[in-house]
Amino acid sequence: MLKELTPFEKFVIQDKGTELPFSGEYVRNKAKGIYLCRQCGAALYRSEDKFESSCGWPSFDSEIPGAVKRSPDADGLRTEIICAACGGHLGHVFTGEGHTDKNTRHCVNSISMQFVPEENQTVTKADGETAVFGGGCFWGVEYMMMKEPGVASVQSGYMGGHLRQPCYEQVCTGKTGHAEVVKVEFDPAAVSYEKLARLFFEIHDPTQEGGQGPDTGDQYRSVIFYTNDEQKQTAEKLVRELKDRGYRVVTSIEPAHTFWKAEDYHQNYYENKGTTPYCHAYTKRF
Ligand SMILES: [Zn+2]
Repeated sequence: MLKELTPFEKFVIQDKGTELPFSGEYVRNKAKGIYLCRQCGAALYRSEDKFESSCGWPSFDSEIPGAVKRSPDADGLRTEIICAACGGHLGHVFTGEGHTDKNTRHCVNSISMQFVPEENQTVTKADGETAVFGGGCFWGVEYMMMKEPGVASVQSGYMGGHLRQPCYEQVCTGKTGHAEVVKVEFDPAAVSYEKLARLFFEIHDPTQEGGQGPDTGDQYRSVIFYTNDEQKQTAEKLVRELKDRGYRVVTSIEPAHTFWKAEDYHQNYYENKGTTPYCHAYTKRF
């Protein structure tokens, strides 16, 4: 889904304008993370490929494979770079300047990108795996998932919508496209993804449309965001299994997007409060 652009974003991204040197928010950004297209959210560059060029714009010596298209600029001299997914203008690419051993400089307008710090990503850690589940109010799903052996951490957050850095109140409107989700980091040697996915289907009602329990709205929909193809196949297999048992499962299975961590007061909600969930309980379905 394309974001609605501010006038300045439109000036750069659609009308191929250029922000002033040293004016963009990412010129000096050294944090680890990933740079997305501001217009469509496609991943463009990694922080590892960013370097200091003193030109006044964020500089990268390579792009994420396939993410960036090159074409001759209207000025007949330079090579323009655009987002391969949406065609949004990014900047220009130069070669032969000798900044790094790749000898390439993607000179990118900050305003064309959206930086997502590493801690907000759903990237699998070296020795762990990440699962993302949405099954209604995240307080309850988090509470149930945390109790599972092999689970290293569970965080409540938002995923699947178009709004960047959403807050709870915005998600509560049901109009951001985001679902309340939990991000589960687990050790696949101790607990399988399939076991966690089965648990997910048994701690919420996957047949309820448009909400969960007393909570209604798109943000409470039943959804699995898979982080690799194996997870996708496992999730699809379990849905088939439930359908064979007569459950009219409405859970959607979607590729994982950016995970936006929810406000601190939503984390470990029931543990901190010393109570148990009103919206989630275990029901055997398999
Ligand atoms: Zn794009």
